[in-house]
Amino acid sequence: MPAAHPTVVVVGASLAGLLAAAAAARAGHPVTVLERDALTGPPGPRRGVAQGAQPHVLLHRGLAEATTLLPGLGEDLLAAGAVRVDTGRLPWFGPAGWQPTDVPSYAVLSLTRPLLEHVVRERVLALPGVGLRGGCRVRGLERAGGRWRVLVEDGPDEEADLVVDASGRGSRLPTWLAALGLAVEEPETVDAGLGYASRLYRARDGHPLTNGAVVQSTTDSPRGGLALPVEDGGLLVLACGYGEHRPDRDVDLVAYLGGLREPALGELTAGLEPVGEVAVHRQTGNRRHQHGRRRDWPDGLLAVGDALCAFNPVYGQGITVAAIQARLLGEALRRRRGGSTRRLQRRLRAAADLPWAVATGEDRRYLDGTTPSPAARLVGAWTTEVGNLAVAGDRRALVALGRLYHLMGSPLELAHPALLLAAARRRRGPAQPSAPRPPELEALLTAAHG
Ligand SMILES: Cc1cc2nc3c(=O)[nH]c(=O)nc-3n(C[C@H](O)[C@H](O)[C@H](O)COP(=O)(O)OP(=O)(O)OC[C@H]3O[C@@H](n4cnc5c(N)ncnc54)[C@H](O)[C@@H]3O)c2cc1C
Repeated sequence: MPAAHPTVVVVGASLAGLLAAAAAARAGHPVTVLERDALTGPPGPRRGVAQGAQPHVLLHRGLAEATTLLPGLGEDLLAAGAVRVDTGRLPWFGPAGWQPTDVPSYAVLSLTRPLLEHVVRERVLALPGVGLRGGCRVRGLERAGGRWRVLVEDGPDEEADLVVDASGRGSRLPTWLAALGLAVEEPETVDAGLGYASRLYRARDGHPLTNGAVVQSTTDSPRGGLALPVEDGGLLVLACGYGEHRPDRDVDLVAYLGGLREPALGELTAGLEPVGEVAVHRQTGNRRHQHGRRRDWPDGLLAVGDALCAFNPVYGQGITVAAIQARLLGEALRRRRGGSTRRLQRRLRAAADLPWAVATGEDRRYLDGTTPSPAARLVGAWTTEVGNLAVAGDRRALVALGRLYHLMGSPLELAHPALLLAAARRRRGPAQPSAPRPPELEALLTAAHG
């Protein structure tokens, strides 16, 4: 990377690209973001972000990281209509039943994905030095005298010192690298075959819905669902299933959700008015590229976000990892040491290590014919045990799981001696009766049905 103020070109103006652009601009660099979609008109689903109609949770860590780049982002999202949800009070039916809702936890801001992206885009484009070229698809890269020429379809090419690929799961970077004569390793993949089907609903009497609920799938019952409040009082309802249980576009959401281990989401949805159509999405496998591992990784090139590592979305990690990577990029640009970008690319990849381990460890349990390693089996069994403790009301277990879920803590917190003792005690004690539905769920059902 050249030492002084490189010109940065970012490919893709979705969340990873926008956050990377913010980081580079805040480090004092001119940035041009190239985006294949035109990005005009009000926030709404668009072709380049096919997952846009599906629920998106911005984990607590993700909002915190994004806010370091865009101070006051949380307030802007709330002003745009996002709903604040305390995840400790979100009714959650896990493998062992309803979790207690009397321990506050991290808050998330819940809104539709297009609105989230719209607010972030407005903030990023207001930063000095950031430009956006919409409606322009990048088709390749060429070296041009120590710099890059970014080849653009239907428009002038761009020159850059640093190119950041943020073009998502469908990134063509491996093809572009191969065209430059570089060897490209196969990405790692773990695809448990999860499918999403979502639809927006409203209460028939217009009452705004301000909480949601989750019914988690299990390997014995590989169907789940959730409902999340979004702007304008709406509720985004999702049915999801693995393999042959994937819902299709014709799914009867009320019936699907009513047939889960806990029928609450079906009861909730039955009384609501659907808005728009069912949207399905099936590209959900975990895929991690090996970018930066080979010694011949080119200078002045980085990949971030889903273009580097895409996760099974059910764990809600993608935007948070992109925000962490953007911060790392900004820190590196501010240090301006010059030299190779390979080390930075490896750090960006390492930022995905923990979420990758969480997502693929869990997903391997859904894959027929895959035998998890003894270590992975142990981690899986212990996580289930901590989940059982949480359902039985153990606060330390609830807090540790919340911290891991929001990428705020380490998995080692699940191995705290107090949890080991509590698990041993629970095993010796009488079986716990299953917890009743939490009051927050009853309140949501009442709000939904008038
Ligand atoms: C069903 C589903 C649900 C999800 N839910 C969550 C969630 O709850 N929480 C969470 O954190 N994450 C979630 N994710 C992941 C999240 O969508 C991504 O991690 C996040 O959008 C960051 O992705 P990105 O910016 O890297 O890529 P994308 O969002 O895929 O965007 C890529 C961008 O690049 C543009 N582009 C592509 N090719 C070119 C080109 N050649 N030239 C110019 N522009 C190009 C596209 O138009 C697009 O704007 C979910 C994903 C899916 C599939």
